[in-house]
Amino acid sequence: MVFEEVGKPLRAVERPIPRPGPGQLLVRVHACAVCRTDLHLLDGEVEIANPPRILGHQIVGTVEQWGEKAPAGDARRVGVPWLGWADGTCEYCTSGRENLCPNARFTGRDIDGGFAEYTVADERYCFQIPPSYSDEQATPLMCAGLIGYRALRMCGEARTLGFYGFGDSAHILVQICRSQGRSVYAFTRPGDEEAQAFALELGAVWAGGSEESPPAQLDAAIIFAPVGSLVPAALRALAPGGTVVCAGIHMSQIPAFPYEILWMERAVRSVANLTREDGNELLALAPGVPVSTRVSTYPLEDANRALEDLRAGRLTGAAVIVP
Ligand SMILES: [Zn+2]
Ligand SMILES: [Zn+2]
Repeated sequence: MVFEEVGKPLRAVERPIPRPGPGQLLVRVHACAVCRTDLHLLDGEVEIANPPRILGHQIVGTVEQWGEKAPAGDARRVGVPWLGWADGTCEYCTSGRENLCPNARFTGRDIDGGFAEYTVADERYCFQIPPSYSDEQATPLMCAGLIGYRALRMCGEARTLGFYGFGDSAHILVQICRSQGRSVYAFTRPGDEEAQAFALELGAVWAGGSEESPPAQLDAAIIFAPVGSLVPAALRALAPGGTVVCAGIHMSQIPAFPYEILWMERAVRSVANLTREDGNELLALAPGVPVSTRVSTYPLEDANRALEDLRAGRLTGAAVIVP
């Protein structure tokens, strides 16, 4: 399913199976979850420099071929995340911040991704998938889980957390927070009772609309929804010294707000991409929690329907494409 230009749906195209180069794996895609970033790519809010491009960066599949060898016959299962390649030599890469590498290449944006039957990935950036997860259940960990986990790290020792937007990321993260003894307050679209019930079911201590004030001050807030007006709303709910973490790759404009809601050492920051260290930590932690994921599966040719269900807020959990 190929992206050709902004504003057009993905198009089903027949292509030859890609050939892995040195250091690359040919991966047969078993499942690939849809991410809000895919909507930003479709809409041109995040640019694809060289279309056509196959989107999809939460891939789980098996290795069918190594770049430098004949087909090995080893059905090793791998996960392919958003960070597809980094130069390994810049000041960011050499200081544990490969997520900020200016030359990084991203799966499903700069490299063909997983809304396809096959993809090619750099072996060094692939993850091992814990055996207790099925292919479908593991896919949302690859970005929704990973970015959420990185955002949680930015919250430090916060004990009370607000999640603004309760979708694929939040439904994973609330389970981790609960296992760590933290309290999660879930904010959804006003009136979205289904999402609020889902949040409470997974362990949130409170759920309400994004315009509501939580019953306790928050030590930190993570904004998953791409809605800039949530930044001042979250700042108003924050205790002194707290942080608002914006976890998305794109957000609508943040409205002006009075300095007094930032005063007292409150902070606003973003989270960009992932490091392999984030991924290894999350994948080591997830089976022990255990994090369970809620997925809705779609056949490959229905990728556009999955994307539109995400856009319309019709999903509980994550949409997963199964070729
Ligand atoms: Zn993503
Ligand atoms: Zn670099």
